[in-house]
Amino acid sequence: MKFESAEDLAAKTEGPSSNDITIATNPNGKITKWNKKAEKIFGYSAKEALNQNISMLFSGKNQGKENEYLQEVRAGKAKQYEIACKAKSGKKLSVAFSAFPEYENSGEVTSICQIAYDMTNKEDVEEKESVLYSIIDSSDNAIISKNVKGIITSWNPAATKLFGYTEDEAVGKSITIIFPKDGFEEEDLIIENIRKGQKIENFETIRCAKDGTEKPVLLTVYPIKNKSGKITGGVKIIKDVSQKDREDEKQATLAAIVSSSDDAIISKDLKGIITSWNHSAEEMFGYTEKEAIGKHISLIIPKERLPEEDRIIGSIRRGEKIDHFETERIAKDGTRRQLSITVSPIKNSRGKIIGASKVARDISLRLEAERQQALYTERLQELNKYKDEFMVMASHELKTPLTVIMANLQLLQELLQKDKNVVFIEKAAKQVHKLAELVTNLLDVSKIQAGKLAMNPTEFDLNELLSESLGNLQQTTKTQKIIYNGNGNKLMIRADRERIEQVITNIIGNAIKYSRSPGDIIVKAAKKDGNINVTVTDKGIGIPKKDIENIFLRFYRVSGSASSFSGSGVGLYISAEIIKSHGGKIWAESKVGKGSVFHFSLPALSTK
Ligand code: ADP
Repeated sequence: MKFESAEDLAAKTEGPSSNDITIATNPNGKITKWNKKAEKIFGYSAKEALNQNISMLFSGKNQGKENEYLQEVRAGKAKQYEIACKAKSGKKLSVAFSAFPEYENSGEVTSICQIAYDMTNKEDVEEKESVLYSIIDSSDNAIISKNVKGIITSWNPAATKLFGYTEDEAVGKSITIIFPKDGFEEEDLIIENIRKGQKIENFETIRCAKDGTEKPVLLTVYPIKNKSGKITGGVKIIKDVSQKDREDEKQATLAAIVSSSDDAIISKDLKGIITSWNHSAEEMFGYTEKEAIGKHISLIIPKERLPEEDRIIGSIRRGEKIDHFETERIAKDGTRRQLSITVSPIKNSRGKIIGASKVARDISLRLEAERQQALYTERLQELNKYKDEFMVMASHELKTPLTVIMANLQLLQELLQKDKNVVFIEKAAKQVHKLAELVTNLLDVSKIQAGKLAMNPTEFDLNELLSESLGNLQQTTKTQKIIYNGNGNKLMIRADRERIEQVITNIIGNAIKYSRSPGDIIVKAAKKDGNINVTVTDKGIGIPKKDIENIFLRFYRVSGSASSFSGSGVGLYISAEIIKSHGGKIWAESKVGKGSVFHFSLPALSTK
């Protein structure tokens, strides 16, 4: 290998353009040549450096190590070594030395030329580069570089995510792999711009992924220059805007909903300044969007209701929503609007409350309907009162002649006991009895309606009352057997004896009436948990599920086969009212075709 002399080299690199540190030493390391760059990097002047050992440049622990590096050079080998150095100022440096031996004609090494590179800054550059690489790698935007021929030279992970090609698949391919079929000429245009050194910024276009899906993107392309300023390619930053498109779409849908809503939709900031005003707000309040935006919301608030606004804003600041708040607002022409308003806080992307949206619904019509309804109900109650009064009066008036007829018929019955024509009197008496019963029931209904069904409570044994009543009821039927399963114990209650008897008669009367075929009627009574429970089980026609809840209502009768039995639909209503007024409960269970079970329970009196 032929090397130039150290001096020649030093002379060559001496000029101001020299970027390298050029030092010459003798074989033992004594500095014999010291150029300007060396002076600049190490801080020692030529005067200070010449004749010193090169190890003066080395940092503390490397002092005296020059022989380690120089002995190979002395033996005729070139040597590269990187060593920690220290400048005159004390600044730490990392320096790479390339040491070359210089020979005399005799072949003896007489001088060593050392070209050194300051690597300290190089490390910075490398660090900067690695930061840049990590930015590119972690960027959400696809970053692709290409040469002037349009061949991809680098491809970051976001590009893989967006287009589906891996780095290996993309690098070396033409950039047109991500072009839609009809968009190739766009690349010519881009290349032309790059060649001219011009950048392209936020150019909206379409690119294609590996699976063929089209991606709306925003493109920015920068030319890449080499050290000498020549354009060697371009770097493309590609932003996926499909998400933004979706958001735009959402925004547009929302805007359409707001503008077409029948409710007035208004937004305001925390100072109460109106920031948006939809079409319905224009119609409701008479102000155009232009007139309303920028004004304070008090524009539509009646004076006496202004404190409301402070309360609303207070809730909004706390992040609370106000739901269906009924109030009044005032339109441009001074008319009052009855409204139901819902106010919700508006938050920015960081969650901070920046204002409120108000949805106002005109409830004037609803309020008017409610007013009419109230008037109607009042009128109805009044008419009902007249009807009830009439019923009381009519029932009373009917009752007196009926009682007289009944008494006379009984008299006749006794007089004509042996006469065969007595049957006609019996028939008449039976019908009059029915009529009297109906009148009594109607009178009871009227009394209940008027809240005047008086109770006359006494203490008595329900067991005894049941035995007595069931005996009487058994007289009315030959086909059914009424079986009483009382255990003989006293079942003391405090109640209106006659009214309770009326309930028993009604329930068992129904059990007899609503049975087509003969079947036993079983009555049970027992004390449990402080109540006397009575059940009446029949094997009659039963009651459909849908009707069971309603049979205790006034005038309710089950339609269908049940309607072929005569009745007025008030018996169970009166029974329920009697039981309830004693603090008891009444209910029924039933299966169509199988029969029914009626229950009632009354508070028991404690028997010692
Ligand atoms: P009604 O005078 O019609 O018998 P109720 O108020 O006593 O009036 O009874 C209401 C309705 O309940 C009856 O019309 C009938 O359809 C039904 N109902 C009551 N008891 C029974 C029963 N034991 N079996 C079947 N249906 C019954």
